[in-house]
Amino acid sequence: MDLFEYQARELFDDYGVLTPRAEVTDSSKEAREIARRLGGRVVVKAQVKTGGRGKAGGVKLAADPAAAELTARQILGTDIKGHRVRSVMLAQPVDIEDEFYVSYVLDRAAGRFLAIASAEGGMDIEEVAATRPDAVARVPVDPAEGVTAAVAAKIAEAADLPMRTVDVLVRLWKVLVAEDALLVEVNPLVRTAQGQIMALDGKVTLDDNARFRHSRRADHETGAEDRLEALAAERGLNYVKLDGEVGIIGNGAGLVMSTLDVVAGCGARPANFLDIGGGASAQVMADGLRVILSDPAVKSVFVNVFGGITACDAVAEGIVRALEDVRPTRPLVVRLDGNNAARGRAVLAERAHPLVEQVATMDGAARRAADLANAA
Ligand code: GDP
Ligand code: MN
Repeated sequence: MDLFEYQARELFDDYGVLTPRAEVTDSSKEAREIARRLGGRVVVKAQVKTGGRGKAGGVKLAADPAAAELTARQILGTDIKGHRVRSVMLAQPVDIEDEFYVSYVLDRAAGRFLAIASAEGGMDIEEVAATRPDAVARVPVDPAEGVTAAVAAKIAEAADLPMRTVDVLVRLWKVLVAEDALLVEVNPLVRTAQGQIMALDGKVTLDDNARFRHSRRADHETGAEDRLEALAAERGLNYVKLDGEVGIIGNGAGLVMSTLDVVAGCGARPANFLDIGGGASAQVMADGLRVILSDPAVKSVFVNVFGGITACDAVAEGIVRALEDVRPTRPLVVRLDGNNAARGRAVLAERAHPLVEQVATMDGAARRAADLANAA
């Protein structure tokens, strides 16, 4: 799970990494109050889980509380690289003397972590890495040893960072280990005119496999994506939220993957991956539909089942049961084939729900679901 910048900052705070004072809000009126509390002049920053906000107009300086309100109003609700801005963070501006880049990332292939650091941080780090790779130091970190002061000094030296950053490098490593993160990235880490080392931005990816030992994590799950995935996990479903509009349910990961491709080939975007598995019951089908229909982005649903161990009549009964509970407001296209397909189709035909239609082939059903989503 990726964290928002404001959540990453909270973690940094906990481990003694300096960050500018800041508050988050989803209201432009409140932004004015916050700016007043922070001293008037503030940086207004879109909270979206993507980088490059600065270049996309998602990071703006406001001279006073009135300007902060106006700027927040301009940024809230906009789209940054496909992510809707639902909240902004207002931070005390900092006089930047120098911008650095530092990150720890899991290097799966090497079975180690990698410290990546550069004295040329800021908005153009990708370009620096592409055009002058020598300006970006890559230092392997042995997970058993970790980033001690000595290792941190080596990283700072390799990247030509001031030795003052050593303490922060050690603390950021503590964040990674204690919070079970797969990535901790700070860009920029700055040296202020007053000589302090501060994290002005933060990107943290937590390891979902370690969720069970972090009771606080529920607090981080604020996005629609996180809510839906948490709801699915609660019900033991294999669900991944995607960016599109066609909800997808299928049995077997391979079938679901190819269903995503076929829907994309029909000019629509899948809203999720959901595999109800081999021995799926009516209950699982109902749970799956419930999760998918809780996603406001979904415009149509494509249920693609090839009955093997899961007999199609069990699937059809699951759909009928879910229709009673969820009362969908969006159309379902169902393709049933394989084991007990005829009985399954008959169950659905008998229910004759106005929002459910059956199409016999996978391609035909995908086309229909895509058309319904695009017309909505
Ligand atoms: P990103 O573009 O999504 O990585 O967003 P950042 O949080 O990194 O902000 C982009 C740029 O805005 C940074 O590289 C800084 O140069 C600038 N910036 C952000 N916060 C401040 C601040 O408090 N003071 C000043 N002077 N610049 C800032
Ligand atoms: Mn940044």
